[in-house]
Amino acid sequence: MVPTVLNASPSEAAQTQRLWSSTLQSISRAKQSLEANDANAQRNLTYVFGSKEEAYRREVLKRISLMDNKARRCRYTVSLFEGSVPGFEGRMSIAAHTAILGAPAISLNKIQLKGGFLAEGVIAHELSHNAAGTDDFAYGRNVHLDMAKRVRNADNYSLLIQHY
Ligand SMILES: [Zn+2]
Repeated sequence: MVPTVLNASPSEAAQTQRLWSSTLQSISRAKQSLEANDANAQRNLTYVFGSKEEAYRREVLKRISLMDNKARRCRYTVSLFEGSVPGFEGRMSIAAHTAILGAPAISLNKIQLKGGFLAEGVIAHELSHNAAGTDDFAYGRNVHLDMAKRVRNADNYSLLIQHY
């Protein structure tokens, strides 16, 4: 479903909706691939999660399906913002944020709209928090985390989606 975009010019709203739609298409492709357990699924599970074992494929597919279902069923609100977030000044320029398993709403930094590939990963990262209850144990490719955390780590889902 097309999201409502807040605090955006018409072109920023259109760009956000394109990114959203492209992310959802990647999530759908990932879901189909993991359901079929095809060659892409085996390669991407091995690269991003460090294992293509059946138990892990099911854990990852479960969360991808939650993301896919919620993004199709609910109309999300994407609120754009500029600059830093109160409480984060001096530490980082936060890219995006959302509530874990909360209302269908994501806040996205306008600098991400120029990120292309990166922005798609950011939306997938936030959707995994919002729809599938993932956490932030580590960022990037984290095959060193123990597997119970790896299958609940948001950035692993971001990376997986970027491979579809
Ligand atoms: Zn996060």
